[in-house]
Amino acid sequence: MARPGAHAVNPAMQPTSERVDTRPGARADRFAQVALDVPIAPWFDYRVPASLAGVIGAGNWVVVPWGRQRRVGLVIALAATSTLSEDKLRDVSALISDAPASPPSWLALARFAAGYYHRHLGEVLLPAVPKLLRTPPSPRARGSAFERARHRVDALIAPAASSPPAPAPAPAPPPPLTSAQATVLRELEAADGFRVHLLHGVTGSGKTEVYLRWINGLLAVDPNAQVLMLVPEIALTPQLAQRVRARFADEPVAVLHSGLAEGERAAWWLAAAERRARIVIGTRLAVLTPMPGLAGIVVDEEHDPSFKQQEGVHYSARDLAVMAGQLNDVPVLLGSATPSAETWLAARRGRYAMLSLPHRASGVEPPRLHLVPLHQRAPDHGLSEPALTAARETLARGEQVLVFLNRRGFAPVLACASCGWLSRCEHCAAYRVLHRVDPLAELLRRAARGDQASTRRPTRYRLICHHCAAEQAVPRACPECGSIDLGPLGRGTQRLEEALVAAFPEARVARLDRDVARRRGAAQQVLDAVHAGEVDLLVGTQMLAKGHDFQRLALVVVVDADSGLYAADFRAPERLFATLTQVAGRAGRAMAGARVIVQTRYPDHPLFASLLAHDFPGFADRLLEERQEAGLPPFRHQALLRAEAVSIEDAIGFLAQAHAVFPADAPAQVQCFDPVPMPLARVAGKSRAQLLVESTARPALHRVLDAWLEALDAIPSRARWQLEVDPIEI
Ligand code: ADP
Ligand code: ZN
Ligand code: ZN
Repeated sequence: MARPGAHAVNPAMQPTSERVDTRPGARADRFAQVALDVPIAPWFDYRVPASLAGVIGAGNWVVVPWGRQRRVGLVIALAATSTLSEDKLRDVSALISDAPASPPSWLALARFAAGYYHRHLGEVLLPAVPKLLRTPPSPRARGSAFERARHRVDALIAPAASSPPAPAPAPAPPPPLTSAQATVLRELEAADGFRVHLLHGVTGSGKTEVYLRWINGLLAVDPNAQVLMLVPEIALTPQLAQRVRARFADEPVAVLHSGLAEGERAAWWLAAAERRARIVIGTRLAVLTPMPGLAGIVVDEEHDPSFKQQEGVHYSARDLAVMAGQLNDVPVLLGSATPSAETWLAARRGRYAMLSLPHRASGVEPPRLHLVPLHQRAPDHGLSEPALTAARETLARGEQVLVFLNRRGFAPVLACASCGWLSRCEHCAAYRVLHRVDPLAELLRRAARGDQASTRRPTRYRLICHHCAAEQAVPRACPECGSIDLGPLGRGTQRLEEALVAAFPEARVARLDRDVARRRGAAQQVLDAVHAGEVDLLVGTQMLAKGHDFQRLALVVVVDADSGLYAADFRAPERLFATLTQVAGRAGRAMAGARVIVQTRYPDHPLFASLLAHDFPGFADRLLEERQEAGLPPFRHQALLRAEAVSIEDAIGFLAQAHAVFPADAPAQVQCFDPVPMPLARVAGKSRAQLLVESTARPALHRVLDAWLEALDAIPSRARWQLEVDPIEI
């Protein structure tokens, strides 16, 4: 599968007759081993041309030929020999001389990740670099991408130089710490070198305030120090950046996430790499930012599944942050109201230091939680009678209400009342979701397609598959029986919003979910409106649950808490507890008497008893007991081999072969299970299957995986496959 002219490769795969002989006195820098974002080999050998001899070194960025193209790569070592024959070797095209130096600990982290996730170094390193900086310079371009990014940094960091200085708003003095916060801070500041701390603090307990104080100390003692703050969602970066900038008026704050314009992302990345920004805030990809002065790392909401990368190398940014702390010998602070089972276990065993903030910083009582049993079908707006009454009372007092439903769209499925037809996706083992479309957006779409001549009125609804994104118009009649008796089943946030507008005609209703957030800036607009008090009733998904500090929110209604209670994935209850805690934590952050109403068909489920008692430790300890009994993570370590192919036979067939070549000498503690179709067995026309490998010990697991992967590479198959270490969905 190598490209024409490609010149690999894994030295172990090269016949020795092709080795370039090492004459005595051969220069040690004749060849550069270059990591590229290519899955076929850990590095690629290139000749170092005379012009670069003595100039080039490990950690340098270079441009190299690749087939008929050129690529940017990173030199990982120089060598006196190559396993490639002379005629296959090509020269390094150019050194990118103005790229920043690569901190050794950055390379070490990437090397660790490559080993741990069983991928090549270039596949880890290069995708984490902003696109503009890893694109080979065009011969006509004036100046390099790094130079342009550097100019951009100048503009971002010192805007005052060109415009008259605006009177800076005097930063609000930090509040005096509560005694619990002060204790936590003392513990943190006592740490010298690598140490992982879990800060378990209830929502609103002032964790962020602790982060800011700790960072302040780290930056004050060392002018070269840098700190990294990771958050799970792009949507959480603006408010955190704002809070950090307000506190550290003189510090440039770099923000890194995939939603930034390329130029801005390149500039902030460079600012971090060159230590011009001492504070870096970012989503999971930011963990792989080179930071030569790294002195501490904060991972906020460490339990959040968004820290797991879901494409390319499936790394956990939280786990890599801990490793980065170890490699740099600096402390790591993991914060959460509902820590992950993995982190909780590490803290219980004393491997992580447990710090806790059991009360809200404001001293305000936490909101009271009520369960409302759902007996019969709820009306369209989804609110039971007690929830409806509570919403009315709250709105009458001029306070805000949040209605939470973790399902976007109008309704999860369209159904025929006559024959039972359902809106299945033809490409996936899933239903197409009924969505209401904004007529204006639909007209714009048509215009963009050059479809102006169409005189049809814009449709109000479409069917959209959430897995493959296929869309279709809503059929006028049932495709099976011709009946026109088609209707939505169940409800999503759009239907909920519509029904709430009808039920509360006086209230200003807003909705926030991924559909709304698709338009750049739209999510922030809704959040700003909520903060400004221009919204009375807010409807939304998960997006609303995390981190936001809504001051006037007095009531949260969870429309349907049941989907996670009896799900197939063993992590579902852990997730549900976290989500409910987060969403409940949005209520009453600044006022007493706030309420949270959770509607459920299973009010006797033990999860709710812990939730009502605000008893996360009780819940987490019991969860760990159950996991231990069942032999599940974090007591066992898992890897999942996934295969996808047009036919399920090919997918399962590959996995069956994989099973057959599983190392026979694997120790008994490493177990390989039989292949099974994935829970969502078909997506976008591809059938999917998986095979689980489990082990009680990590090192044994990784040794076996290494040996196994070599055997897997040799299996001829039509299936595409990928190995995932520490999968978070099974
Ligand atoms: P968390 O990150 O744990 O949710 P925050 O740091 O956002 O908590 O604090 C929650 C609220 O309490 C914020 O409005 C914050 O300004 C306030 N707060 C935090 N620490 C203190 C303190 N020591 N004194 C008074 N208010 C505080
Ligand atoms: Zn029908
Ligand atoms: Zn589909």
